[in-house]
Amino acid sequence: MMKRPGTAAAAAILLAISLVLSGCTASRLNPAGGVDPRALLAEFSGRGMVGHLEALQRIADDNGGNRASGTSGYEASARYVEEQLRAAGYTPVRQTFSFRGEGRNRKQVESFNILADTAGDAGNTVVVGGHLDSVREGPGINDNGSGVAAMLEIARWMKDSGFSPANRVRFAFWGAEEDDLDGSRHYVDELSADEVRRTALYLNVDMAASPNGVRSFHDGDGSDFGEAGPKGSQEIEEVFFRFFESNSLPAETTPFVDGDSDYEPFLRAGIPGGGLFTGEVESKTKAQVQAYGGVAGKKLDPCYHKACDTISNINADLLKEMSAALAYATATYALASRG
Ligand SMILES: [Zn+2]
Repeated sequence: MMKRPGTAAAAAILLAISLVLSGCTASRLNPAGGVDPRALLAEFSGRGMVGHLEALQRIADDNGGNRASGTSGYEASARYVEEQLRAAGYTPVRQTFSFRGEGRNRKQVESFNILADTAGDAGNTVVVGGHLDSVREGPGINDNGSGVAAMLEIARWMKDSGFSPANRVRFAFWGAEEDDLDGSRHYVDELSADEVRRTALYLNVDMAASPNGVRSFHDGDGSDFGEAGPKGSQEIEEVFFRFFESNSLPAETTPFVDGDSDYEPFLRAGIPGGGLFTGEVESKTKAQVQAYGGVAGKKLDPCYHKACDTISNINADLLKEMSAALAYATATYALASRG
């Protein structure tokens, strides 16, 4: 327990400090009810996420086997995403940045993020993001074509269904995640203090179709792994929990790990975060086989960061479930009000 201040003056100072702090964090979005988790699972069971993965595989095949930032494969992937977004009724924009590339001279490489917004209150922006780039070693279909496919279908579903967001949803396709989270870092670095306040939360998706995978979502309150996100992250965790529980789908939490994915810069800026992950180099436990099926002792994604992360390296059922889960969280926060 914290030590109590000894005097009224000290208490007043503490109160003043907490009021200043609460100006940044107190009025976060309260997740709304009213979005039907089972209807969304049914909806996304019929949507074409795998078609996007096939397109990204063709793009990698035509561009030396990968889609890494700064390559022709990344440019072609970006054009595909932009075409899909435009066809759905969005106006995607590129946000350019440069990052230090690999190799002896480590010269600057130009790259970009793609951002696409819905209508809705920009003062409560819900950022939904995942990286578009692959590693140089392979086509990156599970990592993270799967997240890109989920985001594209959620963006399309919002338009197709006539969904009317109270809060602006910003879909962000990050570049150079596989380098050093450079795209998402740049995005957060460029936000003014006011824009940080106007960012209600960040939802990340990085690997949503691991072939021997699990259903996991981030441990927002740190109750399982000790690394809590900013205030509001617990509610995001609860939203994902509700989705899986309502659909009788076993699921587990996964920790926030510094440097692991694009949530890091958002959490560092004090923006609540959460998201989805189906696993990489960890071996599947017997308990996980009981919950999800699959093969015990085998890696959740045996092709993580390898040339074999192809269209054959996916679990299409898992991708449907995770896409629906992300759609549920996105819609729930798109309809939420400030608390
Ligand atoms: Zn990734």
